[in-house]
Amino acid sequence: MTKQDSDLVKDLRAQAAKAREESATFDALFSSLGEGLIAINEKGHVTRVNQAALDMLGYTESELLGEWYPEKVVMVNEDNSVVETIDRPVTQVFMTGKAISVSKYYRRKDGEKFPVFMTVSPILLRNKPIGAIEVFRDISDDIEADKMKTEFISIASHQLRTPLSAVNTYSLMLENGYAGELNEQQSTFLAVIIAATDRMNRLISTLLNITRIEAGNISVESSPIDLSILVRSIASEFEPQINQKLSLKTKIEDKIPEVNTDKLIVREIISNLVSNAIKYTPEGGLIEMSLYTDRKSIIFQVRDTGYGIPEGSKDQIFSKFYRASNAVKQEVSGTGLGLYMVKVLAEKVDGDTWFESQEGKGSSFYFSISKKGISGKSGAFKLENSRIKRRD
Ligand code: ADP
Repeated sequence: MTKQDSDLVKDLRAQAAKAREESATFDALFSSLGEGLIAINEKGHVTRVNQAALDMLGYTESELLGEWYPEKVVMVNEDNSVVETIDRPVTQVFMTGKAISVSKYYRRKDGEKFPVFMTVSPILLRNKPIGAIEVFRDISDDIEADKMKTEFISIASHQLRTPLSAVNTYSLMLENGYAGELNEQQSTFLAVIIAATDRMNRLISTLLNITRIEAGNISVESSPIDLSILVRSIASEFEPQINQKLSLKTKIEDKIPEVNTDKLIVREIISNLVSNAIKYTPEGGLIEMSLYTDRKSIIFQVRDTGYGIPEGSKDQIFSKFYRASNAVKQEVSGTGLGLYMVKVLAEKVDGDTWFESQEGKGSSFYFSISKKGISGKSGAFKLENSRIKRRD
């Protein structure tokens, strides 16, 4: 062997040793990860699986390796119905070449289902998926913690409501002269108390609605609704509030078709959007409510000439508890729950909601529902109207 040959052999040996070490490091990483990991080839067969995945699913490695993954590891929906292969995240990843994250349920070998959050990513070779890797974790504890939080809010809200209704009733009795004539200062103080209890009542309704919606047990009704009547009624409900500081226009297209939907939910959505337009528009501004149709939908729009939404806040405006800095700076009271609820409720009636806004100029919020309407869904609770004042 020449010196050149022996150098080459040495070099190859060193490279092989390095590759072995890298592979061992990768193996150690793969198996020691706390998250479940499953690698799948382009035919959908399992090529690798780590211990965490085996522990969660209840299989041994040899029971999974080489198996056709969608059949062996059964994915189910909340109601225990099996997710079809075509709807499995891994299939979607193969079709689109893009990673996706979803929450679903897996069925253990013993048949028990458990909730998982998973991210499935394609393994790409020259831009073509040659396999996929799935990382998942059991989210039972997260769901349990969320449930407890929801229960806590629900109990706290109920407990608050009882003493509050006593404050409400007795304030109204005072206002109506049951305890004698009030002097001017007493009336002013009482008006502040009544306004504050109204606000608190609305907040409690919102919290209760959110906990019920999140628990998934709100009923959705379907009956024929004339949205033009509904919008007119909401406009007149807000009129006293608007007239004190703003002007109001309503533009309702002729012959808006009746639609089968849930009146309470739609009213809650529209009222929230209108209430925001009023809240976030300074004195002298304009609020314009419109109702019109396009080919498939009926669209409600509320336009205001208010503070608008800063560019950097636009992505988060529908998130729970989010409030834009300009709204906070103006000292307009709020919780950041209204739009979150609007978004979730819009989904309940197969609707959509979006907005356009320019800071300092104003905003337009939209809510659309399909002319086709919805079919109802039973649930343990009805939505509470959180916008109408209790004493109305
Ligand atoms: P809240 O009004 O209780 O703060 P919402 O969830 O209804 O909560 O709204 C979230 C945020 O979106 C508000 O705090 C405000 O920053 C912004 N926003 C909503 N509607 C408007 C509007 N019409 N004009 C300007 N900002 C708005």
